[in-house]
Amino acid sequence: MNTIYILKPGELTLKGGNRNAFERILIRNLRKLLNLRGLAGSGERVEGSGGRFFVHCPPQTAPRVEDALNHLFGISGWARTRSCEKRVETLLAACVDEGKELYRQGLRSFKIEARRTDKAFPLDSYGIRVKAGQAVQEAVPGLAVDVHSPQAVIQVEIREKTYVYSLSQTGLRGLPVGTAGRGLLLLSGGIDSPVAGFRIASRGMGLDAIYFHAFPYTGEEARQKVLRLTEILAAYTLGIRLWTPGFTEVQQRIKTGVKEEWTTVMLRMAMMEAAEKLALRIRAKCLVTGDSLSQVASQTVENLNCAESLIQLPVLRPLIGADKEEIIRLARSIGTYETSILPYEDCCVLFSPTHPVLRGRVDEAQTLYKQLDLTEEIDRALSGAPVEKCGFLPPATAAPT
Ligand code: ATP
Ligand code: MG
Repeated sequence: MNTIYILKPGELTLKGGNRNAFERILIRNLRKLLNLRGLAGSGERVEGSGGRFFVHCPPQTAPRVEDALNHLFGISGWARTRSCEKRVETLLAACVDEGKELYRQGLRSFKIEARRTDKAFPLDSYGIRVKAGQAVQEAVPGLAVDVHSPQAVIQVEIREKTYVYSLSQTGLRGLPVGTAGRGLLLLSGGIDSPVAGFRIASRGMGLDAIYFHAFPYTGEEARQKVLRLTEILAAYTLGIRLWTPGFTEVQQRIKTGVKEEWTTVMLRMAMMEAAEKLALRIRAKCLVTGDSLSQVASQTVENLNCAESLIQLPVLRPLIGADKEEIIRLARSIGTYETSILPYEDCCVLFSPTHPVLRGRVDEAQTLYKQLDLTEEIDRALSGAPVEKCGFLPPATAAPT
């Protein structure tokens, strides 16, 4: 018998007229995630109807399906569900089985919630709650009814079939990737920027990424580390293209062209200029960074303002109000932390002044930056930049599920 999962959509239930489009993208993304795990047509099936989504799969592929569900933005939770015919006895039996399973897992109180889209079913939702509650209590005396704060909620849904489940897994929430266009993430090898990418992807934004490499000051290991981070992130965003322009020439010109205290602000401005140029070329709608207010000298509100003062595209900074512990917690849960802390220097570390300007004035920063005239160096860096594709489906396996 197939294993069946039920998925609860998250915020997209709040979408009015656009809801169908959001749901289509959610299903498309789920199919891609399954395909990426080699589950194209080994019996897996994705269906959606009436605000619920179902995945059917043979039991042996269930772990890979669950891994896919854990990488899907746009669902608030998912669970394995029992499905049975639409008869009262089978429904009660399924509830009892679910109750036994909850008890086995150590849970001691429950309540029943019921939803009936098929109004022809002989019991209404109140009737289902009462009958199923009694049946479970009789069969599993150690599991008490608690309607106010139960440890578990057994959900019953009467649709084209009867479904019984308790929503055991929390989803990533947010909105399906691809519903908010594409942005260009400035990805360093640090802890923050991968988390920033994850956060913005959770709002439905697809990503490409750029990493400024300062070879030989930062070695190939540093680039490989960023590539690895991109792969981890791409597993949630369904593919990221990573550009890695060499920025050494730009950095050297900055180092010799302005007073040491201004080098950090100038480097930020150069990164923004280069990232915007690439973003316009690849039609990304915005830049995304891992800045967090006042975390380091380049992240005072004045210096952030200098950094973006000569570009037009919006700069999104999803971590601006987050504190480091919160960022680390998220980095651990998405799987980037262990890679981020590998000890390869970021290019900025090598060129950091001992006493950087903390509150740069925009007019002064712009004058200094324009005097540096980095256009040629930036264009050269971009035109020679290698690009790598991470986490995309190879075309041959992109069959529908
Ligand atoms: P992170 O942990 O993301 O490296 P950070 O706390 O080290 O951030 P900064 O080094 O000031 O802070 O970098 C701020 C942001 O600038 C980064 O989050 C990233 O978006 C961008 N950035 C910094 N260095 C690079 C780089 N070499 N390539 C691309 N983007 C970079
Ligand atoms: Mg950094």
